[in-house]
Amino acid sequence: MNALSRGVRRLACSLSTVPEAWRSSTCFTQDRLFVSTGIGSDAGLSEAQRLFKDAADEFASKELAPHSAQWDEQHHFPVATVKAAASLGFASLYIAEDYGGAGLDRQDAAVIFESLAYGDVPVTAYLTIHNMVSAAIERYGSEEQKRALLPQLTSMERLASYCLTEPGSGSDAASLQTTARRSGDHYLISGSKAFISGGGVSDLYLVLARTGAAGPSGISAFIVDKDTEGLSFGKPERKMGWNAQPTTSVTFDDVTVPAEAMLGPEGGGFKIAMNALNGGRINIGACSVGGASMCLDFARDYVAGRSQFGRPIASFQATKFKLADMATQIHASRLMVRRAAQALDEGDPSATVEAAMAKRFATDACYGICNDALQMLGGYGYLKDYPIERVVRDLRVHSILEGTNEIMRTIISKEIDKLGVS
Ligand SMILES: Cc1cc2nc3c(=O)[nH]c(=O)nc-3n(C[C@H](O)[C@H](O)[C@H](O)COP(=O)(O)OP(=O)(O)OC[C@H]3O[C@@H](n4cnc5c(N)ncnc54)[C@H](O)[C@@H]3O)c2cc1C
Repeated sequence: MNALSRGVRRLACSLSTVPEAWRSSTCFTQDRLFVSTGIGSDAGLSEAQRLFKDAADEFASKELAPHSAQWDEQHHFPVATVKAAASLGFASLYIAEDYGGAGLDRQDAAVIFESLAYGDVPVTAYLTIHNMVSAAIERYGSEEQKRALLPQLTSMERLASYCLTEPGSGSDAASLQTTARRSGDHYLISGSKAFISGGGVSDLYLVLARTGAAGPSGISAFIVDKDTEGLSFGKPERKMGWNAQPTTSVTFDDVTVPAEAMLGPEGGGFKIAMNALNGGRINIGACSVGGASMCLDFARDYVAGRSQFGRPIASFQATKFKLADMATQIHASRLMVRRAAQALDEGDPSATVEAAMAKRFATDACYGICNDALQMLGGYGYLKDYPIERVVRDLRVHSILEGTNEIMRTIISKEIDKLGVS
């Protein structure tokens, strides 16, 4: 879709494009508990996007933020809450309405995920992974797979996880060792995956396994049901953050799946995995922007109320300049994330490198902003009585997963190399 037709589509957006569940919810009538009004967060949004954002802000303030500290403390994954998010369309943002999705685009989703993450980062991050798996099924699945699986995923009757990483294969994902051997009309999957978000809780697993020779072209994708014999899960990992969703290893001991469980063509799995990650990187960038915005707002309020040397900390120029830099970095991150989402929506060939740039920049910058916000609270920032230390812990992993930020730099470097030397 070119920029012009996209603009026309934007102009055509109206209230009638907002999913019914969102319009009939209380989202637009009740007061928010707190206001997420980052400078520029509304800039350039269509009327429909503002409504999506309002709905997400409302859900974040009422259903996520009040429970975030407790979920982190108790390492509780709030399944009922993610299912409530699904009832508003948040589990299937860019899935076509024909399959029960909200029929939005990646830019809409970036706006929504940012708002949700303002209320809770790890729960929103789980929703992004679920959306990512659903989108891969929509893009690469057969009509039969889509009709069978997508309605269950869009309603979150079933939750989904993404299984690429292995104990011996992280950044070098194409070296994965899990195998899927053909046996008649079945495949037997053997091997193990590491660090799987939602492991043991999710009902469906998008699994990358080797069906052919070494390298990326020997990898295929499969959809595996949680209850399949031979599938088992490790204990939840003990993590620094992201405690409101489980992370486990997943072991495949001759797990037998029908040949129809393959997603896309044989040998097409690596492409599916990498394409999914383009969107995943944009989404995790949006989650970082949401978390950092909350920390900025919290710190700004705190320094206005806290006095030292006979005056509010907010009145010191050092504090004002720090807040100005934080707001600027958030704005830059947000713009990069939304622009990368637009590139993906438009099928722009630069989408992969723009997603890598946005992910690298937003996740590093926003982690730094949260850390700066913690510093502004002095000793109180270090206490669990305040939300900032939790978001610092949550955002730290965003520079590691969905491809580390060093791998983002290798993607960007390859594009620079293509330019050659003049
Ligand atoms: C909480 C959490 C949730 C996760 N969820 C999922 C999930 O749902 N599904 C999934 O499949 N995976 C998931 N992951 C895994 C994550 O994607 C990997 O941890 C990540 O890709 C890095 O792999 P690794 O940990 O093996 O590190 P390694 O690949 O061993 O890298 C170690 C270090 O070396 C650097 N490095 C490696 N290669 C290069 C290079 N060529 N140039 C420069 N530096 C390099 C890396 O950047 C990193 O700093 C999750 C991880 C965590 C921590």
